[in-house]
Amino acid sequence: MRNRYVIANWKMNLPPEGIGAYLDELGSAPKRDARLIVAPPFVYIPEVVRKGRGIAVAAQNCGDQKSGAFTGEVSAAMLHDVGARFAIVGHSERRNVYKDTDEMIGRRMAMALENGLTPVLCIGEDLRVRDAGGVAEHLSSQIRAVSSDALGLSGEVVVAYEPIWAIGTGRNASGAMVAETVADIRSALQRHWPSSRWDAPILYGGSVTPDNVGDLVANGNIDGFLVGGASLDSRKFLAIYDGLVGRLARA
Ligand code: PEP
Repeated sequence: MRNRYVIANWKMNLPPEGIGAYLDELGSAPKRDARLIVAPPFVYIPEVVRKGRGIAVAAQNCGDQKSGAFTGEVSAAMLHDVGARFAIVGHSERRNVYKDTDEMIGRRMAMALENGLTPVLCIGEDLRVRDAGGVAEHLSSQIRAVSSDALGLSGEVVVAYEPIWAIGTGRNASGAMVAETVADIRSALQRHWPSSRWDAPILYGGSVTPDNVGDLVANGNIDGFLVGGASLDSRKFLAIYDGLVGRLARA
């Protein structure tokens, strides 16, 4: 069975209730069948590791080089050193605002794998691509472009399908739409990645809330969620987690 994850991407925010109270709330929830992960801004990683009562920690990015004159970057080895075990790579905000290219994202992914971090590779299309019927081809090219020898290393790789038009917009993809796209992603993994990666967990991200989680879990054929806005409130985030594990328990 594939691993299941529900990841809180705080982006450049902190939870209004405070880090300690947020983690206490998460820590008190029974953990079943899916792993909770928190991705705080870099500088708060040690605090989340310390107060997280076993909740796994992800970095929101990782350097694409080992070390050296790369002002503003943080290496995968450093992130591992302070307790991160996952690294989000290729988030659309990195691709669009900071101009991360597929080549850079491929190197970030390789650095993560080489340093004991599980990369969470974000892929997704904008509305123009979806309206033109080019989703499968677009995602396939994002998957092909980050393929490297590092995929032959041990350690897991997680894929997050995050349609750009759904991120932070309040407009989520329907479960049926996600299931169709997950099938496209699986076939792209089979075409472009080694067979050890074909069964990678696939998460969905894009305006997930406690209100729409039911349809996404029931019909989306996904292994979990990457949550932005709603993850800043521990109760909403846990309600999304419960939506996933509650359904798994009934299945
Ligand atoms: C994200 O940024 O990864 C994300 C999914 O954001 P939101 O849930 O706010 O759409």
